[in-house]
Order: sequence, then structure tokens, then C-alpha cells
Amino acid sequence: MALHTVNPTTGKEIERFEEFTWKQIDARLATTAKAYKDWRLTSFAERADRMHALAELLRRNRREYGKTMALEMGKPITEAMAESEKCAWACDFYAEKAKTLLADEEVPTDAKRSLVRYEPLGPILAVMPWNFPFWQVFRFVAPSFMAGNVGLLKHASNVPRCAMTIQEIVEEAGFPKGTFNTLLVGSRQVEDIVRDNRIRAVTLTGSEKAGASVAAVAGTEVKKTVMELGGSDPFIVLKDADLEKAAKVGAQARCINSGQSCIAAKRFIVEKAISKEFMSFFVEAMRSLRVGDPLREDTQVGPVARGDLRDELARQVNASVSKGARVELGGKSMEGPGFFFEPTVLSGVKKGMPAYDEEVFGPVAGVITVPGERDAIRVANDSRYGLGASIWTEDLAKAMRLVSEVEAGMVFVNHLVKSDPRLPFGGVKSSGYGRELGTPGIREFVNAKTVWIAA
Ligand code: NAP
Repeated sequence: MALHTVNPTTGKEIERFEEFTWKQIDARLATTAKAYKDWRLTSFAERADRMHALAELLRRNRREYGKTMALEMGKPITEAMAESEKCAWACDFYAEKAKTLLADEEVPTDAKRSLVRYEPLGPILAVMPWNFPFWQVFRFVAPSFMAGNVGLLKHASNVPRCAMTIQEIVEEAGFPKGTFNTLLVGSRQVEDIVRDNRIRAVTLTGSEKAGASVAAVAGTEVKKTVMELGGSDPFIVLKDADLEKAAKVGAQARCINSGQSCIAAKRFIVEKAISKEFMSFFVEAMRSLRVGDPLREDTQVGPVARGDLRDELARQVNASVSKGARVELGGKSMEGPGFFFEPTVLSGVKKGMPAYDEEVFGPVAGVITVPGERDAIRVANDSRYGLGASIWTEDLAKAMRLVSEVEAGMVFVNHLVKSDPRLPFGGVKSSGYGRELGTPGIREFVNAKTVWIAA
């Protein structure tokens, strides 16, 4: 079987890669297990040197890496270059902080001395999605490697060139052979890899379906997992919000990464008193987005990454409309080559429609009108997901009260939801469990070892 790189801007294949055989996988598992024996003994300073070298490459070559992302999955080049720089930030952040975040913690007890020591777990398997093909990988690599772990990457099947490029970058940064290994494999081979004795834990970012399947296998092997899954983030606009700003940022929050972000705003929950005014600003903001070739620096929305994903988007829009949603803007696939979809706004969205019930992965916003604040929270929580949420109001005391009522891993007030290496990232409910980034991110794949020295 082969893995194909198809340019979503043209719909044409660029290159193909043969999937690894089990013999090739086995060889990489062996070098990774061997590399761990030495890497776990390196000092924080040695690890930080490599991590800073990685950051330097990610900054210096951001245009080249950005182009690789744009050609393989259609990310607009300015966003792709920013992604490479953000990876560099995460590498620098953990290079500088790991020693403090993983320092021994003395705990007063009746012992002469008692403490918690954080030690690495071993080789970690990372199963990653195509939508942030660099960021998802480096936000795993930076904390895990600084903690003394090593890793194997199973990237999404439609981004093998990104996967191979990341392999080259890590090698160029001087990480010892085997500390990072890319496995060019499809999802069928994941189960055997998870079950392999040399793998100690698994992190997966992707859909709920993939997460449930991999977590089930890891569960039978009693292996730790972190699951970063889908989302249907609410973007709540209350009547005292700055509507023009909320609409402008809302369009950005929906269409970032051409609408294919787990934390993109997906359900716009708007108080009835201001819904007409908000809608006119919002439709205008969505209409003004420049759709086009992701290699052009002025493009804001590129194609959807694959043809089947665009078909799914069209199904979700059509089914919502047939159940009563109204098309305020866009609503269909664009004519011509590639997998483009019109920036779309649906109004009158209700429970029972895909735009309300499902994760919509593309530039399609569903607007749900509610009578008041209580209903806004009820609708926000009426989802199987709980990743991020954005609340818009000028009353910050009210905002702080509502923050506690929203079932989400991250709540942003008067701002779009974003990731930041300094803060934990993750969800509740079907959006997964565990955290990446921040302090919790570096403590996911460590052994918190209790040490007791008798008095
Ligand atoms: P996906 O289809 O679930 O794929 C994610 C990864 O899992 C890929 O490497 C895929 O491999 C693999 N995979 C799929 N099914 C599998 C199975 N049954 N067993 C083992 N591995 C399996 O997701 P995607 O389309 O790439 O990414 C979009 C999804 O990711 C969205 O739901 C989005 O919200 C979510 N996401 C979440 C976060 C977060 O932090 N919470 C961040 C980004 C994206 P193949 O490609 O070979 O199938």
C-alpha cells in the first residue's frame, strides 16, 4: 500500500510513498528503544541544546516548511510559516522551563526526607492529524523529549512529506539517531505498534473515532494515553458585547486553517436582542475573506485538505438546510479544480441538524439564536464535545461567572480560542482527556516517583 500526497489546490497527486513493512517498523522500534537508554541519562542542558537547535531550524526555514504544508494539505502560507515559528516557540519554552517544571519536589512528612522525582517513561507513540502537520508533532516532541522520553511518529496518511521533513529537521538539529522515528504507516498498523512491548505510552490527536479505537487497544495493554480529539466550540455573543469586533474575530475564529481546526469556533450562539445586528457584521466579515491559492501571501482561506472531507462538509450543509437552516452566505463547493468550499453562514441552526450536533470541519458557521444568557449556556453545553469556548461580553464579572458554567477545557473571554505553550491545552467529554502544553503537558508522560528516606 502507498501513502499519497495530493495537492488540495489542484486535486492532483504530487508524490507517493511506500508504506513501511513490519520489518522496517520493527527496526525503528529497536533503534528507538536503544536510543532511550542513553537519552534518558542526558542532562537538561544537553537536551535544551538540541531543542534550541530545533527551534533555530524551524524559524530559519519557516518559508520552506510552510510551502511543504501548503502544497500537501492546503494551509495558507502565512499561517503555515507562523505554525513553524510557533513550533520553535514551544521548543524554546520547554528547553528553558523543563528543568524547573520537573525539579524534585520535597514533601514534608515524618521521613528524614521525602520527595517526588519526575522520570521519563520511555518510547512514546504519537498518532497525529494532518490539520496542523508541524504544530501537533512539535507540541508533543518539545515537552516529551525534554522530559527524557523518545518518540515514534505515525502521521496522518495524507501528509507523508511533512512527516519526512520533520524527521530530517530533528536529525539536522543533532538529536541522536533513534530518538525520533517517523513510521510511514496507515492506521491499520497502529494496533500492532501500540501493543509492542517497546512502546510505553501513546498520544493521539485526531477524531473521536480514532481516539476511541486507539485508547481501547492501549487500555488492554495498560498503557497510558493522552487523547486530543474533536470539538464543536461555542462562540457565545451576549447582548452587551462589542458586536463589530465579535463578528470580525468570529469570522477569523471560524476560518482559521480554512476552518479545519479542533478549536475553531463552530457554533455561534447569539442573544436574540442583537442577533440581526451581529448577523449583518458577521456575514460581511465572512464574505470579505480572500479564498484562493494557499501559496499566495494574501490568501486567508485555502482549500479543504481532501476531496472526501469537502464532500462531508457539503453533506452537513445540505442536511442542515433540508432540516430548516437558512443559507446567509455561500453554501456549496466551489467550481473548478481543487477542494475549495465557499465561506458559509447558516442561520436558524437547531438541534437535530449536523451544524448543531456534529463537528463541522471547514469554513461553515452555524448561527443559533437564543432568548438569553441562560439558554446560551445550555446550548453551549448541549454538545458531546468540550474543547474550547469563547464568550463575548463587556461585563467581566458576568464573564467570570459564565466561565465556570461552560463545559470546556479552555474558555477565552473576548478573544478567539488559541493554544499557547505556557498554558495547558485539552478538552473534556468526547474531546478527550489529558493535557498538552503548559506544566501539565510535560507531566503527562513521566513517572512521578515517590522517594522516602527513613528518619
Ligand atoms: P483522524 O482521521 O482521526 O486521524 C488522526 C490520526 O489517527 C491519523 O494519523 C490517522 O491515520 C489515525 N487514525 C485514524 N483512525 C485510526 C484508527 N482506527 N486506528 C489508529 N489510528 C487511526 O483525524 P484527522 O482527520 O487527521 O484530523 C481531524 C480531527 O482531529 C478533528 O476531529 C479535529 O478536531 C481533531 N483535532 C484535535 C485536536 C486537539 O488538540 N484536540 C487538534 C487537531 C485536530 P490515517 O490518516 O492513516 O487514517
